Amino acid sequence: MEDIQSILDLRFQGIKINYLYVCKRKLWLFSKNITFENTSDKVLLGKVLHEYSYPKETKRDVLIDNLIMIDILSDGNVREVKYSSKMKEADIMQVIYYLYYLKQKGIKKHGIINYPKEKRKEVLELTAEYEEKIKKALKEIEEITARTTPPPAKKQKICKSCAYYEFCWG
Ligand code: SF4
Repeated sequence: MEDIQSILDLRFQGIKINYLYVCKRKLWLFSKNITFENTSDKVLLGKVLHEYSYPKETKRDVLIDNLIMIDILSDGNVREVKYSSKMKEADIMQVIYYLYYLKQKGIKKHGIINYPKEKRKEVLELTAEYEEKIKKALKEIEEITARTTPPPAKKQKICKSCAYYEFCWG
């Protein structure tokens, strides 16, 4: 039987992929269970949006293999709902990771990212380039999270809305 920690690690891999592209320090802090997410207004807004968007969808928060959580599985597609497209690359790679994971299980899907506030969407396909990119990303996550100290804080636009702001800059 797989040990609990390795199951949890896989379960949170989608978020880790996202954080890798947002901020490597954030990824490291999250991987060490240092979390302040529920105190962040932006995170709360994202959760509210997630709850109230697409009420007709019946399959929401689908947990696959007890490992990865996918927002909505609709028309055979994997769908993520995001508050804004500011972190587009991070959002894309998170969904690509889900598609990659499902492919390992012999399931082929397309990905959709919905930005309901902006009334737009991104349709994604797991290409060979994306597969290579996700493999490299998984290796990098392993390398960063194995470090004993966090990557240094680098000021960037998103810091102000990051749940770790006080921790990094307070
Ligand atoms: S506050 Fe900025 S540097 Fe600190 S974890 Fe968040 S994004 Fe990274």
